[in-house]
Amino acid sequence: MTDLTSLTLAEARKGLADKTFTSLELTDAHLDAIEAARVLNAFVMETPDQARSMARAADEKIAKGDVGPLAGIPLGIKDLFATKGVRTTACSKILGNFVPTYESTVTSQLWRDGAVMLGKLNNDEFAMGSANETSCFGPVGNPWRREGSNTTLVPGGSSGGSASAVAALLCMGATATDTGGSIRQPAAFTATVGIKPTYGRCSRWGIVAFASSLDQAGPIARSVRDAAMLLRSMAGHDPKDTTSVDIAVPDYEAAIGKSVKGMKIGIPKEYRLDGMPAEIEKLWSEGAAWLKAAGAELVEVSLPHTKYALPAYYIVAPAEASSNLARYDGVRYGLREQGRNIIELYENTRAEGFGAEVRRRVMIGTYVLSAGYYDAYYLRAQKVRTLIKKDFEDCFAKGVDAILTPATPSAAFGIGEKGGTDPVEMYLNDIFTVTVNMAGLPGIAVPAGKDRQGLPLGLQLIGRPFDEETLFSLGEVIEQAAGRFTPTRWW
Ligand code: GLN
Repeated sequence: MTDLTSLTLAEARKGLADKTFTSLELTDAHLDAIEAARVLNAFVMETPDQARSMARAADEKIAKGDVGPLAGIPLGIKDLFATKGVRTTACSKILGNFVPTYESTVTSQLWRDGAVMLGKLNNDEFAMGSANETSCFGPVGNPWRREGSNTTLVPGGSSGGSASAVAALLCMGATATDTGGSIRQPAAFTATVGIKPTYGRCSRWGIVAFASSLDQAGPIARSVRDAAMLLRSMAGHDPKDTTSVDIAVPDYEAAIGKSVKGMKIGIPKEYRLDGMPAEIEKLWSEGAAWLKAAGAELVEVSLPHTKYALPAYYIVAPAEASSNLARYDGVRYGLREQGRNIIELYENTRAEGFGAEVRRRVMIGTYVLSAGYYDAYYLRAQKVRTLIKKDFEDCFAKGVDAILTPATPSAAFGIGEKGGTDPVEMYLNDIFTVTVNMAGLPGIAVPAGKDRQGLPLGLQLIGRPFDEETLFSLGEVIEQAAGRFTPTRWW
């Protein structure tokens, strides 16, 4: 039998339906792979017993011909999703051993469709970061290394565990979340496919909140088709999240292989940064050429407010975070540090429970929301946000179907290499992705090539609201042209 961990989700679905192997065999193969890859630190909690019992249940259903869209498929779950009876920490000390009594809507839909949970995946603390270095469980290793080097690289963040686990073939797909790039940037760093759907497409209920007006869940997968399969199960209206949108979920997989002939692809001139590495430029033109060869028309477009997106994001996101994180006070959840009175209990708990980056965000957020500064910072950033959204609307109004950009300004870097003295150095990773969250649009990152050190690079496609299908069609064209990339196993 071929190694079951190397199949795509679509291939595994066929093997299960044809009874070539069982979900238990598929699940066990992944559990073994997880055990052999602990050095990557991708999983913060393995749930083998639960996985096997879910796999057995899936096998029984498959035997009876009762096959859900993800029947028997083993997945990893970012530790930001509440999982009933399974510790959920957002990789923060402050949640301690919090065990939810409820299941997030997104994960409950995956289980409804027959998927199997392998465990919880590492992420940046409260999803704040671009390198998975702020997790209280320590950093995650990228399965990719520079040619001829033993340096462990970051997998990107905040969904670093999800990206690393999918790339290292530890799970067939993973849930992730994206507030400013946390699905697309780690996907680009690991040669996996990641899609952040339109804001409102997936329910946020039961996902630990970072910045509620920007947060969206989405999958990280081994192929564009796999991502389409996963998103179909994850998406949908949920009355428990008032920002979730009541629009029917299309069969995203049907978009794969659909002709892109005549589609208008925008190339935004503002994304051509000074000092951008030549190989990113090259990747971008190559991607444009592939789409053109498939019959798409390329047009230059302008998104003039792009340069304000990152500074505005780093006001809006911390502002919302400071408000969302006020609930972690040592009274209701997880960690409690004693004090002589209630104020001291709050202060001691929060000082001890939050890591340095989270404390920085809470302080920035509190500052920009404070009485004297609200108008100067927060309100102003919201206005900039409206302008960014309008840039995209103007572009789509001119008949543009999707926008092509690089996913990241560089390939993966070494653990500890960036942001040590200047946090902005780390924040710059999100330069191409935050605009999409600010505008609430869907964005997909697809592996498109390698840099000269052999590290994967990705391209991003940005779509109209609720038009994820076009992104899947175009993404697959890039995937077909670029081929699939897998790291050489060293762990
Ligand atoms: N890297 C960005 C940040 O630190 C985005 C994180 C995310 O999308 N969750 O805020």
